[in-house]
Amino acid sequence: MHQNPSPLGRWSREHWVLAGLCASLGTLVLAIIPGFASAMREPAAQENLTTLSLPLPPLEGKASKAAARGPAWQTVTVENGQTLGEIFQQMGLPASLMYLVLESPSAKNLTRLRAGAELAFDLAADGALRGLAFERDEAARVELAIAGGEVTEKIIERPLERRTMVASGEITSSLYAAGAQAGLSNAAINQMANVFSYDIDFTQDLRDGDRFQVVYEEIWRDGERLRSGGIVAASFLNRGKEFTAVRFERNGKQEYFDLSGRPLKKSFMRMPIEFARISSRFNPRRKHPVLGTVRAHKGVDYAAATGTPIMAAGDGRVSFAGWQNGYGRTIIIDHGKGHTTLYAHMSRLGKYKVGSRVQQGTTIGYVGATGLASGPHLHYEFRINGVHRDPLTVTMPKPEPLAGNEMVAFRAATAPALAQLKRVEGVRLAAR
Ligand SMILES: [Zn+2]
Repeated sequence: MHQNPSPLGRWSREHWVLAGLCASLGTLVLAIIPGFASAMREPAAQENLTTLSLPLPPLEGKASKAAARGPAWQTVTVENGQTLGEIFQQMGLPASLMYLVLESPSAKNLTRLRAGAELAFDLAADGALRGLAFERDEAARVELAIAGGEVTEKIIERPLERRTMVASGEITSSLYAAGAQAGLSNAAINQMANVFSYDIDFTQDLRDGDRFQVVYEEIWRDGERLRSGGIVAASFLNRGKEFTAVRFERNGKQEYFDLSGRPLKKSFMRMPIEFARISSRFNPRRKHPVLGTVRAHKGVDYAAATGTPIMAAGDGRVSFAGWQNGYGRTIIIDHGKGHTTLYAHMSRLGKYKVGSRVQQGTTIGYVGATGLASGPHLHYEFRINGVHRDPLTVTMPKPEPLAGNEMVAFRAATAPALAQLKRVEGVRLAAR
């Protein structure tokens, strides 16, 4: 029934792309292609580079009946929650054919379809399926040829290209305005803010005249920008004080360090909760709002809506998870070196049990008003060797800088990016 008498030949990638272009745009496109091809060979250009995206075979959202008239590639965009079975049904293709397709090694990707992904069907005049093409991942496409009850697959590698870019800017209204003016994507601006978030409070500390320089990566494929590849190095002059960050891979993980090789990420976050306001400070003598008696307030209260996520302030191990008298649902984390943090009045605990390892920023529970609480809030305590300290002012332990061989590797690996950063600064100063 759906076996194809004329076997699908080996199509090169160019053939495939051309087929898609012809089908979607008509022969007019052919006249443009020579120019387009040479444009693709141009070396990496600067920010003003314009790009043409290579379309897949015709994009029609849902399958159309046009294919029944003749051989054509037909593209289906996967909708949220849609399965391969549903798509085959929509295309009028039998389930037996789907199982045949799923026998090919790369087709296991098709069992977990992502909304927005595209599947291209090659249908013969009689509606028989001759081929199926899809993106396996960013760097490869798969083309399945179906003939004589057999499926053969071809992988088309689509090499990714990392381009190093530079940008610099000066704050005149907001970080986003300055970043956009410098040509940075929102993702890159967010990452820069994240990298410096332990040293600069971007909601309060930013001033007009603050400046930044960034060396960052973009991921390109076939002459098309795919996404931001992250910050490689950056410097930020905030109220006259300069901060520098440079990326370095340690234990297989990308981290940011300052020039002396010390991680920018501090051992503790100052606030273990977002979107909250301080409703009560650390106070050795305070009238308790529920009991009415004078007693110490050994932590900081953050008022927030019930259900707001509470994060582990630092890496550590859960040493208590459960109910504790007036504290209600409580988590205590042991961070080592005598440092512990406590989180009280939770409406619900996260999935971590006593003994679980947690990383800084992990959600460990949710704001509530359990125990003795006048309203939903997080009561947060910070203890060093059992002594309560004010979480807002306590001197946090500095992370250890790199040492020995790691430091040697760091110096070598980061030198080019730092030199590039210096050059951007030089160009900027010369232009003033
Ligand atoms: Zn409190």
